[in-house]
Amino acid sequence: MSERAWAFETRQIHAGAIVDAEAGARVTPIYQSAGYVFDSFDDGAERFAGRSAQRAYSRNDNPTNVVAAQRIADLEGGIDGVLVASGQAAIAAALAALAQAGDHVLTTDRLYEGTREMMRGVLRRQGIAFEAVALGADEETWIAAVRPETRAIYAESIANPLGEVADLALLGRVSRRTGVPLVVDNTVATPFLCRPFEHGAAVVIHSTSKWLSGHGSVIGGAVVDGGTFDWSAAPERFPHLHTARPHGAPSFAERFGRAAYVAYLRSVVVLEQGPSFPATSAFLLLHGIETLSLRMERHVANALAVATALRSHPAVARLHYPGVDDGQAAVVARLLPDGAGSIVSIELAGGVEAARAFLDGLRLVSQMTHIGDVRTLAIHSGSTIHGKLEEAERRELGITPGLVRISVGLERAEDIVADLVQALEGVPA
Ligand SMILES: *Cc1c(COP(=O)(O)O)cnc(C)c1O
Repeated sequence: MSERAWAFETRQIHAGAIVDAEAGARVTPIYQSAGYVFDSFDDGAERFAGRSAQRAYSRNDNPTNVVAAQRIADLEGGIDGVLVASGQAAIAAALAALAQAGDHVLTTDRLYEGTREMMRGVLRRQGIAFEAVALGADEETWIAAVRPETRAIYAESIANPLGEVADLALLGRVSRRTGVPLVVDNTVATPFLCRPFEHGAAVVIHSTSKWLSGHGSVIGGAVVDGGTFDWSAAPERFPHLHTARPHGAPSFAERFGRAAYVAYLRSVVVLEQGPSFPATSAFLLLHGIETLSLRMERHVANALAVATALRSHPAVARLHYPGVDDGQAAVVARLLPDGAGSIVSIELAGGVEAARAFLDGLRLVSQMTHIGDVRTLAIHSGSTIHGKLEEAERRELGITPGLVRISVGLERAEDIVADLVQALEGVPA
């Protein structure tokens, strides 16, 4: 084969794929096995010491999962990836491999509520401090917020649910100037629309439950290492990558260099904490990824159709879709030239009562928490995902009483729009 660089559409089908050695199966099989037989006594010891290319146990190493993780890493332009049990588990694992008690993490002030909840909950209790900087802050404001103990800058390429776009190029420059790795949750954009490593990210996170799978049948998460960050530039910041391993084995930085982070993630964090990804889920995830580009093109077209139909509807006080009437057109053109995803959120002028009438009036669209499905889904944020917050906190986050998030699916655009519009007709003025 020549050295031709295959296009995204080709790699989403072939990257990382293996032909099963036993039967020659073309589709990556489900290796539904807890463990792998050692060749001998000595081979077992070699596998446990990480000195053998052969695997030991499916908790952190399963062949089906490795194919799916390598495919996601390839599409993102990273060097390697690890699958974990959910998007939440991906965030927890990614941060566990960077920060420890006493450390500090900077985030944008617009994040998926599950992420915020974990950062303000379990992770803060474990001693990691989180501090939010306004998404639109300038470079010097970000630089000034970095402390000696800052171990990550954390952002979502397209924030869930209001579609604020993080200026990844700016955050990439902050990362380069401060030596603090940039971690990007790229769930809503997907690597088809945005590749954060091209803008200076060190680590990319996914909830694979969403568009990467696309069919809404499995929960999962992925962490991808860009191989771009120099973990040895300031070894005192990442001591776990630089201390010698048991029995005098070299440190992760010595042994794996630029891949030290993903090696630590797989062979320490996932091994010790055990957020394993089922091989059956990896099989389904792979089937989703194979059609990612086709689905994203249609998701974007359908989302634009919904945004166009609803932006001037009298019951809609405000519509959120990146680049549509929101002052984000320039950053969207720079970072998301092929489209800005398929979450459209609307603020109903009539508040909670309008949201209730609208959601209860839907016939085709499902009321459900989840995004990135082939089906169009809608949810009232204030009473569900953001339901535990005080009203003032919700307001600060832009979660107004009439806010409804719509994850635009792959049905015929006219049918989606017709259902949304007929439900709006029943909304009290
Ligand atoms: C859903 C979601 C998560 C969490 O993923 P799960 O697979 O549900 O655990 C994380 N980040 C974003 C942006 C999400 O939309």
